[in-house]
Amino acid sequence: MKHLLVLLCLAFKISFSQTIQQCKHRFDRYLNFNSSLNDFVKFEEDAIYLLDKTGAKEFAIYKHELSFISSFFENTSYLFQESFFLEKGIQKFLARKCDSLFINLKDKKSIISNNSLPLKGYRIAIDPGHFGTNLKDAKIEYKYVYFIKDTLNINDSVKIFESELNFNTAFILKKMLEEKGATVFLTRTQKNFTSFNCNYSDWINTNKLRVLDSLKNKNLISDEHYFKLKNTDEHDFFRDFFRDFELLHRSQIINEFKPHLSIIIHFNVDEKNQLWLKPSKNNYTMAFIGGAFVADNFDKIENKINFLRLLCTNQLSKSETISGLTVINFHKNLNIPIANKNSAIYLNDKCLTTNLPGVFSRNLLLCRTVNSPLVYGESLYQDNEFEITELMKNDKEIFGIKTNSRVFLVAKSYFDAISTYFKIK
Ligand SMILES: [Zn+2]
Repeated sequence: MKHLLVLLCLAFKISFSQTIQQCKHRFDRYLNFNSSLNDFVKFEEDAIYLLDKTGAKEFAIYKHELSFISSFFENTSYLFQESFFLEKGIQKFLARKCDSLFINLKDKKSIISNNSLPLKGYRIAIDPGHFGTNLKDAKIEYKYVYFIKDTLNINDSVKIFESELNFNTAFILKKMLEEKGATVFLTRTQKNFTSFNCNYSDWINTNKLRVLDSLKNKNLISDEHYFKLKNTDEHDFFRDFFRDFELLHRSQIINEFKPHLSIIIHFNVDEKNQLWLKPSKNNYTMAFIGGAFVADNFDKIENKINFLRLLCTNQLSKSETISGLTVINFHKNLNIPIANKNSAIYLNDKCLTTNLPGVFSRNLLLCRTVNSPLVYGESLYQDNEFEITELMKNDKEIFGIKTNSRVFLVAKSYFDAISTYFKIK
């Protein structure tokens, strides 16, 4: 338990208390997709247990430990959480030991209010999704809309890169929040960059071998997998390795920033318009928060730990609040209908509805791994027949960015939602 003693010295304190009933409600409402975790999580009157595949108790949270463990998960890095999970197991901490944990604690997220700069002291992370701003990169990610004039009854060819829309929205939102005093962190510094501060091709040329060698030397990938990845082309390498590797990096750098709130920016397409060869008449707005775990997720320790954080903290309800506000503002400012669970197949097959319209629990990597309240926004469908014309425009300059009124309104919607969330005027 020596590591635990180190943990006890870490600075955090109780900001709210939790009950087993609240956790059970979160489990039923947001986390347990179609009852698939029933064999892995057990609630008793005075404890919550995680069970392994044989049904044996693997980890326990007793009633008197809940507030401490909740605060611990919110205020520590993943590596500490993993050590804690493995070392604690089903041991029961004495109540006075839990109490003693809070004696020398500082709240790293406390804010001193400032009337002229109402967001001063708040740290807000923004993740503009994807990286491709040319057809080669965007085809690797499959994140673009490309309609050729001659093949369709449209006035002009359409070429829209989601990475660029996401980045421009993030950049404008960052400036708006900074004007109110917030400290804002962007996961990417340029519209064609990955979160590694370079574009995908440069990353492949300078980092691919080094990263694969390092993973092989640490026995984190098999020899067979190593050789397969080493020899695969950029397209398959993205699908088989880079996509999740880079998303994890995004969540790592967001978590190092210790944000009060994280904004994950995406623009959607109409799933029912697959293969996206023509414009769609549909347009819906929606947002995702964490949750909707399935049994297979429990094969990996990192998923169990992220599950425990979402179970024991009130991050999910805060995420639901900011996401609900964001969806309402998208709807109001952009005049787009709010999605219901029948608007797309993935909303029915992979998501749980929440208490708020257009907000869904979905077990996306970032929704699971980012350690703060968050909104994963999908403001509009880029392939919608009205949006394609609007999104192709470059007729507005905002904070030095050439863009269009739709991107501005998406950024404004996030800003309005954040302002309400933090109760600023
Ligand atoms: Zn996206």
